[in-house]
Amino acid sequence: MIYRSTRSANLEVSGASAIIQGLAPDGGLFVPKVFPEAFSKNELKNLLELSYQDLAGKILGRFLPDYTPEQLANIVKGAYGTQWDDAKIAPVTENKAGSYFLELFHGPTLAFKDIALQCLPRLMKTALFNQADNRDIVILTATSGDTGTAAMRGFQGLDKTRVIVFYPYQGVAPIQLKQMLSESKDNTVAIAIEGNFDQAQTKVKQIFNDQDMRKLLADHDFTFSSANSMNIGRLLPQVVYYFYAYGQLVARGDIAMGDPVNYSVPTGNFGDILAGYYAKKLGLPVGKLICASNKNNVLTDFFKTGHYDKNRDFYVTNSPSMDILVSSNLERLLFDISGDPDLVKGLMDQLKETGEYQLPNDLREKLSDFAADYATPEEIEGEIKRVYDESGYVIDPHTAVASLAAHRFTGNDAKTVVLSTASPYKFPETVYHAVSGQAVTEKGIPALKQLAELTGDLPASIKEFLGASAQEIVIPPSEMEAEVKRQLGL
Ligand SMILES: *Cc1c(COP(=O)(O)O)cnc(C)c1O
Repeated sequence: MIYRSTRSANLEVSGASAIIQGLAPDGGLFVPKVFPEAFSKNELKNLLELSYQDLAGKILGRFLPDYTPEQLANIVKGAYGTQWDDAKIAPVTENKAGSYFLELFHGPTLAFKDIALQCLPRLMKTALFNQADNRDIVILTATSGDTGTAAMRGFQGLDKTRVIVFYPYQGVAPIQLKQMLSESKDNTVAIAIEGNFDQAQTKVKQIFNDQDMRKLLADHDFTFSSANSMNIGRLLPQVVYYFYAYGQLVARGDIAMGDPVNYSVPTGNFGDILAGYYAKKLGLPVGKLICASNKNNVLTDFFKTGHYDKNRDFYVTNSPSMDILVSSNLERLLFDISGDPDLVKGLMDQLKETGEYQLPNDLREKLSDFAADYATPEEIEGEIKRVYDESGYVIDPHTAVASLAAHRFTGNDAKTVVLSTASPYKFPETVYHAVSGQAVTEKGIPALKQLAELTGDLPASIKEFLGASAQEIVIPPSEMEAEVKRQLGL
């Protein structure tokens, strides 16, 4: 099986190489050249009876035949082991306030990014081994919170890999900061920059593409890669839980095999929901994929009008991991519906130059797998409260966006699974306020304890870093390149 770039006709690599490189050298994203064949009804039935780990092995095998089944079995065994606080890995709740919630936050950093980032490092390491590639991988990441923590945790202690995370000084949530500082050890480090997330992101891309820097790294047997959802190795593990959720509804007798199920997905970079689209293409009976945005609702408009327009105000909201105006993975969908790398490159160039593009009409018709909606910060708090009052179940602000979109959706009668992407304890200030109507007394750990008192619950993995008190390293953005060299001993 071969991977190709979304932006040129003749850039092709193996799955392992796509995972090591992260981004295609022409600026495009790697996608399967020929999408794997869908599972038959019989295969699907058998798959849905498997454990999370075995299911993951089978699905990854469909996309990555250049890994042996034994290698994949080892990878998923390591990725989905005792670091998860629920043996099911991704359990679905009973119907609560009108929806099922697929809980994707039972991993070590309490957000769904663990699902992919516990797996990606292992996929990378095996890829290096299979390619007899002796270089060490250096992951450079700018983060506004969840990705950085999950990447550090995923790569921690893995030899031949280094992770350097840059985050905006005083620009991440208090709990996220605690987590990053307590994960700063061994081969992973988090560094604060005196600037905002965009500055960090821009500088990271610049360092990543700097030819002198690349040469210096190559001379020392290092190579850069990426741990964000532009890496296909981060996307593929996310296809698994769409199947696993469906299987749980069948097992309970809540749906019959073959019934369509809607999935409502809190969306930022469009990675999570694209994995759902891939699941549908692989034969899972998906009804609608509901693309749920927060007040930064570029995608809602895009699905309604075919016009992508990032020339608008940027809002800092109470669902920060979805505060994003350029959803990188939409590029993969555009390629999938058009099959035309020139068209994709044209649209992406327009986006870069003018901040907008219009999808041709014949392609708009191919977006019918999706519905779209969005929620304002006030609506988010209202939805947390509604679900809590109706069912006693506490959801986080990102999940609330998808929950509200599911609640308002009237497009069909199918059951809807809401993807629950973070633990409410990661955002205790907003959740406590929504549920009780009161502000927390003090942000961060005290807020977390206050919420725990209200709900009578506290996840075990939170306790690990409650006491962490490491020093922050703070540098100006202009020092980032020098800091990378320093960290690598170059
Ligand atoms: C990253 C993230 C999202 C958005 O996922 P995308 O794949 O970027 O669309 C939603 N919720 C939480 C909690 C996240 O960390």
